[in-house]
Amino acid sequence: MTWEALFFDLDGTLYHPEQGLWQAVGRRIEAFLQQYLGLSPQEARQQRLRFAERYGTTLRGLQEEHGLDPWEYLTYVGQVPVEAYIHPDPHLRALLESLPYPKWVFTNADAPYARRVLRSLGVEDLFQGIIDIQAMGWVPKPQKEAFRRAWAAAGVRHPARTLLVDDLVRNVRGALEAGMAAVLVHPQPPAESLPWIPSLEHLPAWLNGHAPIAAPAADEPSPSEKQNAAGA
Ligand SMILES: [Mg+2]
Repeated sequence: MTWEALFFDLDGTLYHPEQGLWQAVGRRIEAFLQQYLGLSPQEARQQRLRFAERYGTTLRGLQEEHGLDPWEYLTYVGQVPVEAYIHPDPHLRALLESLPYPKWVFTNADAPYARRVLRSLGVEDLFQGIIDIQAMGWVPKPQKEAFRRAWAAAGVRHPARTLLVDDLVRNVRGALEAGMAAVLVHPQPPAESLPWIPSLEHLPAWLNGHAPIAAPAADEPSPSEKQNAAGA
């Protein structure tokens, strides 16, 4: 049994969370919230945390609760100087090249931003494509619908043989609940029991030790669905 595809989260996964880019993006998100909702800096921070917890992202929260035009937000937040924080990473490139599986970027961000980050890292050509928030129908990880849309976008037939690599516990948990494989990449181990590696450098060894499980294809009914259909 081999992996059908690897899905990589972008921010905090393909580059180290302490490189400053994600903090810069966060400052723009909070500045947008201040302007759009007329909040103080402190209120904007709290609102951002609430949206992330409830909807997965600030963007989704603004869409759900305020009918925001997503591109108004993405254009504003995307004006972050990516190239000032992110530089070509030959180690990352060699690591990705060593993994003989189709690779996708699967991010709650938008494709133009993701492309700039990949280009700055010098790894854009190693991915089949970018599954971004628009491709997910504006439904972010960790909602189940986001995973379903991502599998469809990548032409995945066996979610259980497709691996998400992500730095957020809630996304890894959501992926596992949705029926795909997943591993958390984070310097600290999670409080709950989840597949975990401390950094991307550990991914090749982890893949060697964790063969994907056999599972029915996404478009095949499960045995219980077959039974129900037969009994109907
Ligand atoms: Mg991330």
